[in-house]
Amino acid sequence: MIERKHPLVSPSPGTRRELLSLHYGPVGTGLKAVIQASLHADEVPGLLVAHHLRSRLAGLEARGALRGEVVLVPFANPIGLSQRVLQAYEGRFDLASGENFNRHYADLVPRSCELLEPQLRAGAEASVARVRAALREACAALPAATELESLRRSLLALAIDADVVLDLHSDNEAVLHLYTATQLWADIEPLARLMGSRTVLMADRSGDEPFDEACSMVWPRLAEELTKRLGRPVTLPHACVAVTVELRGEHDVDHALAAADAEALVQYLAWRGLVDGAPERLPELACEPTPLAGSIPIDAPHGGVLVFLRELGATLCRGEPLVEIVNPMDGVATVLASPTDGVFYARESRRFVPAGTRIAKVAGREAVRSGKLLSD
Ligand SMILES: [Zn+2]
Repeated sequence: MIERKHPLVSPSPGTRRELLSLHYGPVGTGLKAVIQASLHADEVPGLLVAHHLRSRLAGLEARGALRGEVVLVPFANPIGLSQRVLQAYEGRFDLASGENFNRHYADLVPRSCELLEPQLRAGAEASVARVRAALREACAALPAATELESLRRSLLALAIDADVVLDLHSDNEAVLHLYTATQLWADIEPLARLMGSRTVLMADRSGDEPFDEACSMVWPRLAEELTKRLGRPVTLPHACVAVTVELRGEHDVDHALAAADAEALVQYLAWRGLVDGAPERLPELACEPTPLAGSIPIDAPHGGVLVFLRELGATLCRGEPLVEIVNPMDGVATVLASPTDGVFYARESRRFVPAGTRIAKVAGREAVRSGKLLSD
């Protein structure tokens, strides 16, 4: 294993943070996977899964069972876990800018096109290796004036030339679910089976460029732009399978779960040819994928005590009572119903909330939303 440190831009004299990446297995076989934990820094389950992966990957490497490079970023957001306000961690938003750590990853299409267009006009083939070289160069040239920008550039640089990118997150309280690009479903289906995913949310443009889309969607977008510029069809494969894995809720942190999740991720890498010993048979699929635009959030119409009437993972019909908000001042209890037929996959972890809080999400089959599809 090779350990690499990536210094971030120092926000002020006398302080400096760094990103750590652990590189297992042979480099240059053409296969590379990146697994990163807790880009939203206070989503802790991923940190424990990464801890289990560390020893598992070291064991595989010692046995010579790795067929490609597996990069583990055991703690993807050293800025986030250093942010504390009144004894609470703030790991989702950068306090300096207010920006979400999992948004605004760079669009590498324009710069990569500038690099590739002359080569393709001169007759070169649009090979995966050539495109990856352009993506690496475009990424290295990104400006990074702030610590946050340098974190985003470093993370993207580690993952932009990978075949598989697994970004480990968690929700407030939730069943295990995945976010990925619609076009990648066939590649993600085995992962959904292995992890026992209860919901898979698909979109090709979720809005504000989250990390997984920056890695995967750059391929079809680049093909489209090169086709436009060259005036002839340029086809590129979906060379990067990227997925956001929501490891249940923030309190689902225990060794048995984390070890099983780490094992499922290793099995998926084996399925994709990065590790010896691919599983002969995959578990049953626990859900059908649904559009992210069909996931309907429920917001609290007033503040109060939150009482859930159904358990997470329940399959709901539209109009079924789901949650009650009790106002202790006037004694009014408002019952909110499921807005759609679908799976109740995530909910708020606090039990007293102010008005306007997003308190639950139900994954329906019909795409009914548009614009920015992710939570803030
Ligand atoms: Zn997250």
